[in-house]
Amino acid sequence: MSAKVWLVGAGPGDPELLTLKAVKALRQAEIVMIDDLVNPAVLEHCPTARIVPVGKRGGCRSTPQTFIHRLMLRYARQGKCVVRLKGGDPCIFGRGSEEADWLQQHGIAVEMVNGITAGLAGASNCGIPLTLRGVARGVTLVTAHTQDDSSLNWQALAQGGTTLVVYMGVAKLADIRDSLLAGGMCADMPVALIENASLPHQRECRSSLAAMHQDALAFQLKSPAILVIGEVAATHQAQAMASIA
Ligand code: SAH
Repeated sequence: MSAKVWLVGAGPGDPELLTLKAVKALRQAEIVMIDDLVNPAVLEHCPTARIVPVGKRGGCRSTPQTFIHRLMLRYARQGKCVVRLKGGDPCIFGRGSEEADWLQQHGIAVEMVNGITAGLAGASNCGIPLTLRGVARGVTLVTAHTQDDSSLNWQALAQGGTTLVVYMGVAKLADIRDSLLAGGMCADMPVALIENASLPHQRECRSSLAAMHQDALAFQLKSPAILVIGEVAATHQAQAMASIA
């Protein structure tokens, strides 16, 4: 692998949810640039690589995106095999395509490796089928956090009949509740708040649209968490989280 950057999804946290392709890329990597949400346990697949943390959690110490771009470019131009490792899937609220565009504009080949996104893993681990037949005809992934603070069409979301999976919503629960209620969603719509999905310390809190903000405060819900809003959030299907020996 030369002058190429691998944009790799590390999955939601459980190191066993890494794809085989991600493992392959990590095994060959010389430089691994990782985000905060990546479980360091996945680094067992690249014991000799140089690990460069470039995380930027909302509101905390942050690495500017331009710095990350330039650093990837510099390593790639040195002929290093670079893996840019991101939590979940690189292109689900992960800026993967921005990074791919930048690199390609600068003559660097990019290979994208999917990861399992947190919303899907969190729902499954809590026994919630996001598109339960006869109940939800689709699923909509949204973020409550936008770069320019532009507003989502909450009315369309409230009335769309799909399950909503909200990323980056912990600090905005009251706003989300108010917007969906104003958009016509019923107050008792089931909600699941899922923290640290797929990790041993995963926690879940079942609630309703009207109660979710108060319930989350009482539960001391913390980021990273996803919200599942919709009829399916009342289901508790049997599921197995055991790891495969
Ligand atoms: N690319 C990532 C999402 C990055 S945005 C993905 O595909 O999963 C960061 C947000 O993802 C967090 O604020 C949170 O809403 C969600 N998230 C990431 N990991 C999570 C986890 N293990 N449990 C719950 N939510 C998670």
